[in-house]
Amino acid sequence: MNAAGPGSPAGLREANRRRVLDAVLAAGEPTQAGIAAATGLAPATVSNIVRALVDIGSLTATTAVRGGRRVRAVRVVPPAGHVAGIDFGHRHVRVGLARAADTVPRARPDGSVGPLPPLLAERVADLPGGHGADDGLDTAAALLAETLAAADVRPSGLCGVGIGLPAPVDGRTGAVGEPGILPGWVGVDAAARATARLGVPVAVDNDALLGTLAEQAWGALRGVRDAVYLKLSDGVGAGLVLDGHPYRGRAGTAGEIGHVVVADDAGGPTGGPGGTVCRCGNRGCLETWASTATVVGLLEPLLGRPLAIAEVVSRARGGHAPSRRVLADTGGHVGRALGGLCTVLTPARVVVGGELAQAGELLIGPLQAALERWALPGAAEGVEVVAARLGARAHVLGAVALAGELVLATRG
Ligand SMILES: [Zn+2]
Repeated sequence: MNAAGPGSPAGLREANRRRVLDAVLAAGEPTQAGIAAATGLAPATVSNIVRALVDIGSLTATTAVRGGRRVRAVRVVPPAGHVAGIDFGHRHVRVGLARAADTVPRARPDGSVGPLPPLLAERVADLPGGHGADDGLDTAAALLAETLAAADVRPSGLCGVGIGLPAPVDGRTGAVGEPGILPGWVGVDAAARATARLGVPVAVDNDALLGTLAEQAWGALRGVRDAVYLKLSDGVGAGLVLDGHPYRGRAGTAGEIGHVVVADDAGGPTGGPGGTVCRCGNRGCLETWASTATVVGLLEPLLGRPLAIAEVVSRARGGHAPSRRVLADTGGHVGRALGGLCTVLTPARVVVGGELAQAGELLIGPLQAALERWALPGAAEGVEVVAARLGARAHVLGAVALAGELVLATRG
């Protein structure tokens, strides 16, 4: 998430606003005292922030009687207008448009979750691997204009955009980090650059974290307090939920499981050759063993032509032994890396998303077996591994939800 400087008064104010909004969204219609208890903020601070958010039209505060006492109850006002989500992959970009009011997942008074926000229009385009930030944004801007036209929404009706990037995004500076993971974007203040290019407020976050937010709001992570969302695509990443909250880590870079080293020299995790040098500069990272590029790279020489993951999965389902073997090995590599993570964090559920999730049990079965093999037995027991419910749309839906939150925090 992009923000003003962390130590600045503006940065602190923005962070506190977000905490108050999160508490209201999570509880449905809490009292101001309830918000203070949930956020740890002083009652006077909560009162000031609620007043500011009421002034900009994001919250309403009414007097209610609870337990025989008069209290101030607060709830979110669903925003007007439209928002867009932009999901950048290493080789694709997907744009979805939604009504802003449909993107507020927890705004009901009873705290229950509404239906999946319908995407009014959606467009996908290929990008060259290693694309630069400006080229990627140009393509996204063109797709965004197409979705607005297709849904008959004027550009002035667009209130905010959320962007997911397959790279660590530093929450303190908004900069895309880690040279090598998404080289064309490194060091770019992605939110500022996109805001200038698209002409609307933009928030940016890591794509696996956005998949996590979407599965929490509308999918397989609803109500799960400790969980891991895995993104298995051309890049491999994870989003963590700890004690009910998405965990971004010190600089927004937590969850980079794709760059956990599973075998660094001779002898791969299943006895293969030594680890390949990874784009991050390490050797033998999980991503070099378990990305979509690795899966098709192992099978294309057998077939003598380019392959897509959907075809690998359909061949495996039809009994094609090499395809079954490669998907099973991929699940095994992921399960091994995940075993360590489960030993440390003891999640209740692991959700498998990204392009490789379409392999279903062909990948998830071996993944679960390896997880049980490599995790501390007590930690692996009871970890439920399931496929993501939102499929290929998880990241763009998370980006749409991020845009909805941005509009709530800043409208007026
Ligand atoms: Zn790496």
